[in-house]
Amino acid sequence: MLKKYLIFCLLISISVNTIAQNITDSTYRATPTIVNNLIHTKLDVSFNYAKRYLYGKEWITLHPHFYPTDSLTLDAKGMEIKELALASNGKTAPLKYSYNGKLLQIKLDKTYTRNDRYTIYINYISKPDELKGATGSAAITASKGLYFINPDGTQKNKPVQIWTQGETDANSVWFPTIDKSNQKTTSEIAMTVPAKYVTLSNGRLVSQLKHPDDMRTDTWKMDLPHAPYLLMMAVGDFKIYKDIYNGKEVSYYLEPAFAPYAKQIFGNTPEMIRFYESILGVPYPWNKYSQIVCRDYVSGAMENTTATLHGDYVHRNTRDLLDADPEDFISHELFHQWFGDLVTCENWTNLTLNESFANYSEYLWFEHKYGKDRADEHGYSDMTDYYFQQVDGAIDADLVRYYYNSQEDVFDGITYQKGGRILNMLRKYVGDEAFFKSLNLYLRQNAFKSAEVANLRLAFEEVTGQDLNWFFNQWYFDKGYPVLDVTYKYDDDAKKVDVIIKQTQKGRLFKLPFAIDIYAGGSKLRRQVVLDQKEQTFSFNYTQKPDLVNVDGDRQLLAKITDTKTLDQLIFGYHNAGNYRDRRDAIVASAAVQINNAKAQQLLLDALSDKYYGLKIFTINRLKLDSGDFKTKAIPALETIAKNDSKSTVRAAALKQLGKLKDKKYQSLFETAAQSQSYEEAGAGLTALSAVDPDNAYQLAKKIEKDANGGLEVSIANIYISKANEADIGFFQRQLAKQTTYNFNPTALYCKMLRQLNNTELIMKSLDDIKQSAIGYNNAATSRAYENIIKNFFIDEEKKKAGAATDPALKAALDKRVDYANKVIDELESNAG
Ligand SMILES: [Zn+2]
Repeated sequence: MLKKYLIFCLLISISVNTIAQNITDSTYRATPTIVNNLIHTKLDVSFNYAKRYLYGKEWITLHPHFYPTDSLTLDAKGMEIKELALASNGKTAPLKYSYNGKLLQIKLDKTYTRNDRYTIYINYISKPDELKGATGSAAITASKGLYFINPDGTQKNKPVQIWTQGETDANSVWFPTIDKSNQKTTSEIAMTVPAKYVTLSNGRLVSQLKHPDDMRTDTWKMDLPHAPYLLMMAVGDFKIYKDIYNGKEVSYYLEPAFAPYAKQIFGNTPEMIRFYESILGVPYPWNKYSQIVCRDYVSGAMENTTATLHGDYVHRNTRDLLDADPEDFISHELFHQWFGDLVTCENWTNLTLNESFANYSEYLWFEHKYGKDRADEHGYSDMTDYYFQQVDGAIDADLVRYYYNSQEDVFDGITYQKGGRILNMLRKYVGDEAFFKSLNLYLRQNAFKSAEVANLRLAFEEVTGQDLNWFFNQWYFDKGYPVLDVTYKYDDDAKKVDVIIKQTQKGRLFKLPFAIDIYAGGSKLRRQVVLDQKEQTFSFNYTQKPDLVNVDGDRQLLAKITDTKTLDQLIFGYHNAGNYRDRRDAIVASAAVQINNAKAQQLLLDALSDKYYGLKIFTINRLKLDSGDFKTKAIPALETIAKNDSKSTVRAAALKQLGKLKDKKYQSLFETAAQSQSYEEAGAGLTALSAVDPDNAYQLAKKIEKDANGGLEVSIANIYISKANEADIGFFQRQLAKQTTYNFNPTALYCKMLRQLNNTELIMKSLDDIKQSAIGYNNAATSRAYENIIKNFFIDEEKKKAGAATDPALKAALDKRVDYANKVIDELESNAG
């Protein structure tokens, strides 16, 4: 699964993953004991949209795991159980059971041995919306298992959909099962739905049966065993784009409005499958691969076996895709089909076996498809995300988490971002061939089973012939990260350089293998070293003084490193060491002294034509164009980039810088850019234009406002906000109507616009619009995101104005607006509660 981030571009950036203050507790989380094993799950379900009910009939086939047993416990959350019986030879015989709303304790008719199998029949009603305490967690904002979206069709901007979300243990809201990740079952799901809808589930569609009442039954069958949390259903108005890979269906399910972009959004999926098959040496395990995009999803995306579900952040058109693609999500979920679905973590303690691999697969895909620089940029951003989440170690936990408060807490920056970086270090340590051969062995040894981290270590040890306990103990079964202090001592008389490295983190020492590269006389000498002391000196002799000594030459360590390289050395590193991080470090150091350092200025000019677009943007964003001589060199370079760079986001960055100059000579450049197909470029152009010719920018905004996402949306909104014209409110209403749960810019911008208006009735009506939009999600976490925006972007500012107001009528009006907004928040809160 991929977590959900709420993005407020340009405004604020927050994540729904608020950090728990205390993420561990003292309860040891053992792997669930296996008494009975699931074998097969057969479901026959239909839906009552008005009541938000699922009517289910289920046949579960099981066998005792090892010891004989006469009882069975099933997870079944908030259900009404109508009938429970033993099924054999087409007949049913009622069984005794007790049910507490969570667990079904079933007394079997006799004691069964591990050589027996038996089938239980259950007739039940699932009532997800009546479930108590299903408010979910930080990573997954609800745990209802089964979701009815706009079931009454009352929200005109939202389609009617049903979908499910099982991880971690919410699928037992819609079918009784042993809802544990160390179980595996084959499955067969028959869904009876209105005939106008499309369905999706795991495996292949084996039959479609039309009924006379405009209903249809679709039966989906998964012949290979998978974990209960990976079973899924989706129902709605979707168009299916079918591609093919190696004779297997690769399909994309999208709402009709986004169907024309299916191939543009998902089109690299077959190539990704081929790539992952080739590095893993394990063919894609399942019979097909579908991806579906659903509304109001409660996380980022979910790797249901053969049927990945994406949230609607994937709804992108041709213009969006010029600026950014969602391939980190697409690759992440696809890789789970091996790491998570084929081999499943045996409990949430070992979630790293699913999520660290899926995280690292994003790196692997970028490296393969777009080059190492893009991968390294992604990896670097993961590493800093991990640091931020850990707040420099104040809250920390082992990667393998035997102690936690809630299993949902394990879905964090340690399991994802840190885990991915640890895999990258393991790859660098054992080498590519050994790394992928070990993954191959691990997958083959544990296919269709569950695993723990020891299985992974043993596979690596078998392939490499090495004892790797030290690596796993350090990175998987312990917490923290190294903080290194690097200094250099050159002795020209002795022709020797000492590299002195100190480990300054609190607590234990790390053992860190890495390379030190010595650049001298036009050649590079690499030394492999191991740092394992608190302070260690590595000495190297030279005949010619080195231009650069580069610690961690591959830039692969998960560590905070304070290095004392000189600017000259960093600049040398930019041109000669050449990793993403080498170049980035040189740009950072040069940008810091750009005002009066000619070498730094030249480095920045060189970096403006870096071979990687990400570093061009990074450089452009750091330019300060207020120094005389540098300005004359940098501006022509920016002009060329703004006009000619092949990447829209690079052109947009250059336009933002040129826009700051507020120079009329760029008017036509800005005007042309504002009409770009790229939303980012158009937004940058329009904002720049509004600084030199506000009326022209306003007129242009009116002309292009109908199709405005991303940077263009923000730019137009800001132009309207500064104009404060009530007649422009329609733009904000339309943007709100197409807001997704991943980007709350429309609500924030709408609130900012309302602050500019004086029409109290219109403001109150608009706040009602926002309230209705929030209620439409039927999700407490989303509701609270709206509440925060209304408070931060409307109430707080209006209160200040009311406090300062001298005109009694104005003060009364402002008070009334604030009261009304507070009432909206109260209503949302009671609705969320
Ligand atoms: Zn994932």
